[in-house]
Amino acid sequence: METKQIQKEIRQLIEEREAILLAHYYQRDEVQEIADIVGDSLALSIEAAKTAARVIVFAGVHFMAESAAILSPEKTVLLPRRDAGCPLADTVTPEALLEARKAHPRAAVVTYINSSAAVKALSDICCTSANAVRVVQSVSEDEILFVPDGNLARYTARFTDKKIIPWGGACPVHDEIDAGAVARLKQAHPDSPLAVHPECPPAVLALADFVGSTAGILRFVRESKAAAFLIGTEQGIFHRLRLENPGKTFLPASPSLLCETMKFTTLEDIRSSLKENRYVIRVPEETAAAARRTLERMTALS
Ligand code: SF4
Repeated sequence: METKQIQKEIRQLIEEREAILLAHYYQRDEVQEIADIVGDSLALSIEAAKTAARVIVFAGVHFMAESAAILSPEKTVLLPRRDAGCPLADTVTPEALLEARKAHPRAAVVTYINSSAAVKALSDICCTSANAVRVVQSVSEDEILFVPDGNLARYTARFTDKKIIPWGGACPVHDEIDAGAVARLKQAHPDSPLAVHPECPPAVLALADFVGSTAGILRFVRESKAAAFLIGTEQGIFHRLRLENPGKTFLPASPSLLCETMKFTTLEDIRSSLKENRYVIRVPEETAAAARRTLERMTALS
């Protein structure tokens, strides 16, 4: 009852403030339930930019709210929890990237969307887990500094002749999936396809029936005739999977598939965010303009 009451209050506040609530697939179920749009990070920011809303409340992590601010500079972007960061994005700083650019002067810098605005601003082009191969193929350089996810970099390298130099970052949630445990799970469930995110280690990807972004995993499950699936990405996606596929069942590929910072945001935080206009995410204009160019170079490819 309490949950329903807070959800109702949030929806009222959203109307009053002419706002839009975005929730990433990894958010808590009760947050996804009342969001205007549920999706992956870039799709959310692109959709939000198209709406007439004056305020964007981003139930996600910091770099996602920055992307929304970059693409909607005229809107107020709120991140309900200031401490909701992404440990993967934190593995690269602007200073470290500048050093790496010096060390690899012939390389183009392709930066995964899971990165700060300041890092995007120093890159040549952005990519997502869905379009990384296409982005890498689109640049003229034969050498690519791929930032910050090393697993996604190595996965992308399988589909190109270009020299990929992976950054040393990893998503702690996906990177901890143990290939041995996954192999045993597959043996126990031989009729259940394994769908995983490319942020997983190569040994896990080698066992997968499907490798793709969150949106890609959702599409794979929708289109598959199988009745049960093993899922190798953050467990928040189960809410959407069950909603879209009522007759199918899902098992996590690992018991530890929980992103702590994605789960920070509670309904109470969202209500306070709307009431108190906090925490406003601003990206300095010069940084935003440079980061926007790297995003636009990517979106121009699709
Ligand atoms: S799941 Fe991984 S990449 Fe996504 S927000 Fe959490 S730590 Fe970052």
